[in-house]
Amino acid sequence: MKGIAVTAFLGLAAGLAATALQDQEPEFKTTAVAGSVHMIDSGVAGNIGVSVGVDGVLMIDDQFARFAPAIREQMEAIGAGAPRFLVNTHWHGDHTGGNLEFGGAATILAQDNVRKRLLAGDGRTPPAEKAALPVLTYDDRVTLHFNGEEIEVYALGPGHTDGDSIVWFKDSKVVHLGDHFFSGRFPYIDLDSGGDVAGFVENTRRLLEMLPDDAKLIPGHGPLSTKDDLRQTLRMLETTTALVRERIEQGMTELECGDAGLPEEWATWSWNFITTKRWLRLCHRSFTAD
Ligand SMILES: [Zn+2]
Repeated sequence: MKGIAVTAFLGLAAGLAATALQDQEPEFKTTAVAGSVHMIDSGVAGNIGVSVGVDGVLMIDDQFARFAPAIREQMEAIGAGAPRFLVNTHWHGDHTGGNLEFGGAATILAQDNVRKRLLAGDGRTPPAEKAALPVLTYDDRVTLHFNGEEIEVYALGPGHTDGDSIVWFKDSKVVHLGDHFFSGRFPYIDLDSGGDVAGFVENTRRLLEMLPDDAKLIPGHGPLSTKDDLRQTLRMLETTTALVRERIEQGMTELECGDAGLPEEWATWSWNFITTKRWLRLCHRSFTAD
C-alpha cells in the first residue's frame, strides 16, 4: 500500500512540475551580476547564467526549448551570441530543455550522471537526442579558464539529484548553484533521480563553509541571493527535517507527517509546486527509504 501511495505522490509531483513550470507564461529579465556574469530569469524555469567576454560565451543551463527565441533576445541585449561552452547543472528539463537550441556550436559539460540520465530518459522525459547530450563529463570537477576568470565546475554528492554541479566564478565571486538552492522556498528533491534529502542538507552546510562571504548566488529558482539567504535555507532545512525525524520516531506515516503541517514561521516557504505538505512527505519518504 505504501509503495502505491508513494508512486501516486510522485506521479502527482511530476505532473504538477510540468504544469506549474511549463504552462505559466515566462517573463524574462536579465541582471548584470558581477564581472562578466549575467543572470537570465524567466520566473518559470531554472535561472540561466551567462558569462560574456573576450573569449566568447559560457552559458549555464538553458530552460525549455520553446523559450529559446526569448532567451536569445535576452542574450543579444548583453552582446552574447552562440555559446562556446554550455554547462548543465543537472539533467532536469527546465535546465537542459534548450540543449539542442544552444548546444549546436558549444561543448556541453555536465557531471557523468547527467549524460546517463539524459540518454536514458524516464517515465516523464523521453531520451535526449545525441546532439543534446553533454560531450565532456566529469566525476567531481573541471576548471575552465575563460573570459579572464577561473571557473570551477564542482559536483556535489547526491542532493537535488545524483548529478548536481555548481559553477563558481572564482574572480568575480559569483556562484550558480543550480537546484541545490531554491531561494526562499522549499526545495524539490528528485528521489527518483538519485536525490537525497539528508545529502541536500549536508551539501548546503558544505557550500556555506566553502563559499566566500560576499559571494553572489544565482539559485536554480528564485531571485539573485546572498550567503545570508542560503543560511536561512539551511536553518529551514535543519529545523523542518529534525521535525520529520521526530515524527518518524513517533511512528507517523508519510501521509500523517504531511498532514501534521509546520509552524507558521515556515508558511512563506510553501509554493505552488512544493507545498508544506509535499515538502514534509518528501522528507519522510527520503528518510524512510532503504
Ligand atoms: Zn531540478
